[in-house]
Amino acid sequence: MRALVVEDDPDVGPDLVRALTEAGFVVDLTGDGVDAWQKGGVEDYALAVLDLGLPKLDGLSVLRRWRAEGRELPVLILSARGDWTEKVEGIQAGADDYLAKPFAMGELVARARGLVRRRAGLSSPLLEVGRLIIDTARMRVLVDQRPVRLSPLEYRFLDVLAHAPGRVLTAGDIAEQLHGTADAADANAIEALVLRLRRKIGSDIIETRRGFGYTLGGS
Ligand code: CA
Repeated sequence: MRALVVEDDPDVGPDLVRALTEAGFVVDLTGDGVDAWQKGGVEDYALAVLDLGLPKLDGLSVLRRWRAEGRELPVLILSARGDWTEKVEGIQAGADDYLAKPFAMGELVARARGLVRRRAGLSSPLLEVGRLIIDTARMRVLVDQRPVRLSPLEYRFLDVLAHAPGRVLTAGDIAEQLHGTADAADANAIEALVLRLRRKIGSDIIETRRGFGYTLGGS
């Protein structure tokens, strides 16, 4: 899944990118508010981590613009101060969660995952689809209660589909969430990825809807 990190502090931004990448996100980083507003307006992010103090356009204004334009991506705001008025302003502007600096990266990742999950209507960090269980906290997959060894890309593929319950995702949608681009070559590679995964987890869990795309089934 794609995430946007908006942070101008060079001591914090790259660490956020690293932590979220390790957690399975494909991350774009920007350090200015105008660029953030524009990216969030056109790209399909599952999450934004938004610092409040930014050059060109402050984080609260970025958030207000997104919400005024109907952009509903989950937003976790960051602030240098533990100031409660900032927290209230952020929530009133449409933030979904708030973290005051300094914070532990593990907490940020846990909150990020929780936001993405809740936006997908999922309450538990264990995502169960038929015989498949995805443990999003540990990034592990079980089939019939037995662990399956997957590559990071294979894991992320299942994670993307599990976060879109009841929806059919096209190869292009999936490629964008896995690679940050909806390149035709990446979309073609999705088919090969599905074949590999079916050999590992069984053929019934990933359903192909001809002409549309993929969904999880296999009850
Ligand atoms: Ca800042």
